[in-house]
Amino acid sequence: MVDELPTAAYAFMGQQRINRSSMERVNEPQLAAVLGHEMAHSLLGHGLFNVRRLSPHAIHLLGLLERSEPHPHPDTPDDPRARELDADLLGLYLAGLAGYRVFEVATMADRLPDLHPTYADVTSTHPKAKERKELLYRAAVRFCEQLRKGQLLQPDPVRLHVTYESREEEVRARQNLLVADDVCAPAEAPQPDAAAPATTTN
Ligand SMILES: [Zn+2]
Repeated sequence: MVDELPTAAYAFMGQQRINRSSMERVNEPQLAAVLGHEMAHSLLGHGLFNVRRLSPHAIHLLGLLERSEPHPHPDTPDDPRARELDADLLGLYLAGLAGYRVFEVATMADRLPDLHPTYADVTSTHPKAKERKELLYRAAVRFCEQLRKGQLLQPDPVRLHVTYESREEEVRARQNLLVADDVCAPAEAPQPDAAAPATTTN
């Protein structure tokens, strides 16, 4: 958690950082969505993906990252907005596996315009809040369907499957601890701090 971050949050070199003032504007499940989103960027190798595109100017950095960062899936989308949606989708799964109520997690999209004053300026790289909200809601529905059917809790697109040894066992062990009626409880709306004035709705 840092002060004076130029955006609400970011992920790079295996670290996820969130702006202190942004954190104070969200409730805990929404914070889990933000951190899950940033962790997803790291796990999906989006940092390396971005640096590869800057190459050869970043060749020294690239060599370091190739050894230390997860490698992106070959089907990683070129459109930065699509990578943001991928991070939202996997991020919701990470938050749900951590035990947060996924429909509460999905309400993060309602808070985007309030998260940081720059959000309205970065929509060239980020999808509209409405699109993210719909995706997060659909992800929560799918997560609960998989949980109730005892299927492995991972997003459907193969490019979002996090792969390392024991990943599947870890997810299984984690999801066995989840109680579907709790994790899949409907969101209580509106959130107490959702009454704060919205700055913009784009
Ligand atoms: Zn992002």
